[in-house]
Amino acid sequence: MSITIHARATKSTATEGFAMPEPVSEPQQSAVPLLSMRGTRKQFPGVLALDGVDFTLRAGEIHALMGENGAGKSTLIKVLTGVYPKDGGEALLEGRLWEAKSPGHAQQCGVSTVYQEVNLIPTLSVAENIFLGRQPGGARINWRAIKKGAEAALARLNLSIDVSRTLSSYSIAIRQMVAIARALDIQAKILILDEPTSSLDADEVARLFSVMRRLKDEGLGIIFVTHFLNQVFEVTDRITVLRNGRLVGEYETAALTRLELVARMLGKEVKDLEDAPRVQHAEEVRKEPMLRAHGVGRRNAVAPLDLELAPGEVMGLAGLLGSGRTETARLIFGADRLDCGAIEIDGKPVAISSPRKAIDNRLGFCPEDRKTEAIIPDLTVRENIILALQAGRGWRKRLSRKKQDELADHYIKALSIATPSPEQAVKNLSGGNQQKCILARWLASNPRLLILDEPTRGIDVGSRAEIERLILKLCDDGMAILMVSSELEELARLSHRVAVMRDREKIAELSGDAVTENGIMQAIGGAAS
Ligand code: ADP
Ligand code: MG
Repeated sequence: MSITIHARATKSTATEGFAMPEPVSEPQQSAVPLLSMRGTRKQFPGVLALDGVDFTLRAGEIHALMGENGAGKSTLIKVLTGVYPKDGGEALLEGRLWEAKSPGHAQQCGVSTVYQEVNLIPTLSVAENIFLGRQPGGARINWRAIKKGAEAALARLNLSIDVSRTLSSYSIAIRQMVAIARALDIQAKILILDEPTSSLDADEVARLFSVMRRLKDEGLGIIFVTHFLNQVFEVTDRITVLRNGRLVGEYETAALTRLELVARMLGKEVKDLEDAPRVQHAEEVRKEPMLRAHGVGRRNAVAPLDLELAPGEVMGLAGLLGSGRTETARLIFGADRLDCGAIEIDGKPVAISSPRKAIDNRLGFCPEDRKTEAIIPDLTVRENIILALQAGRGWRKRLSRKKQDELADHYIKALSIATPSPEQAVKNLSGGNQQKCILARWLASNPRLLILDEPTRGIDVGSRAEIERLILKLCDDGMAILMVSSELEELARLSHRVAVMRDREKIAELSGDAVTENGIMQAIGGAAS
């Protein structure tokens, strides 16, 4: 028995093999939205995640679903695609009452999702991934047909690669294209992309956008979830904004300004937003450094460099991806060993040979990739918060439960972590709130120097402003902060000084009036060195 492959190179192929409702009638079709969800309701224990949400998607549009973390975007998509049953409301697909019984069923009906974490199998070939789980249970698999089908599916995305190579031999961007090809191989009418661009570089994003535009021209409806406002304005036609599980509104992208969009997401007035958190350079008084690094470096990672941090100071660490920013942060924290140089704290030499030694010296480090390096998803919010403090004391000197509860309550309040309870598993929190838990973890260990690697990456604008404000507050209270960020605008606003890295070398240090977005950019580009 051989398998049937539904890859299509053009859109003219009929929707063979899929039980789709007939469209109401041909001329009426353009008036009927592709998808219309009404009064959608979803209750989780303790959280009303969707409270009567309406959502409409037209054929041939890219529609952004926006809202702060926890607004209900992913839940709306999961209810639509049959991951969760809904508690109320109805959906019409091409004008017909419709309910997805499972993600597989949704896909068969033409509603395909590419999730944030690309759920493919890296050790299988590209072709196998595209057809994974879709070979009928025959004894013989027609590999030639699979290979040809995979090539055709990728050709539709303008991608020509060797489909017999393993998926893991390709970049994240290519893997994502493979995931999209997989989603589209079925006769997709609706393509849902939940945060597809968070790990792509600018070229890869451009490529994804050209694919999205092409699919839109073919008549697909695309739902696009992202935190990047620029991308929304670049590629979408309409925007639906959710807030706290409720619909705020639906807008033509061209009719909104960035600030208006942000205001709607936050439930604020535009004028409230015009004052973003910012350090006051005028009030700057240089204090004695608490930490001095002389000529610290590591072969193949960072060329020897000097760095000083005073209490109450935010030092930005700027540079392109791969310029050595994270490596520098890791060296200071003892996560990687120094090959050369020395570190002094309060004028005394210290040997920070491990993160444990760093914690003993009251250093804290929130790494960039909170999913793999920081958050322990199955532990509760409380357990995640007390982790660094407990590790610093040693595991035999257990914190009492009472003390743990106090700490958790304190930081949930202080950082406004949105969780129904301290006993909620951290994995159920939104990205911004997970990030706050990691910050809370380090704050609980009472550091004098906190190293933050991309503290606002991948989180929504609301949590971002809160985290920025927190950074400035901590620094007002006398903490020293070393912050790596790819957002030059953010670095310029929050840093007293900025060290600029290029090709694993510190090439400039900016202070005072020189700390501007443009100044940093010029230094990275080479003008100031
Ligand atoms: P978004 O994708 O907009 O960030 P979500 O749809 O993930 O938001 O979450 C909406 C709300 O529902 C949040 O308060 C979140 O904590 C809660 N939530 C989401 N999934 C679950 C779940 N499986 N169990 C309990 N609560 C959940
Ligand atoms: Mg989400």
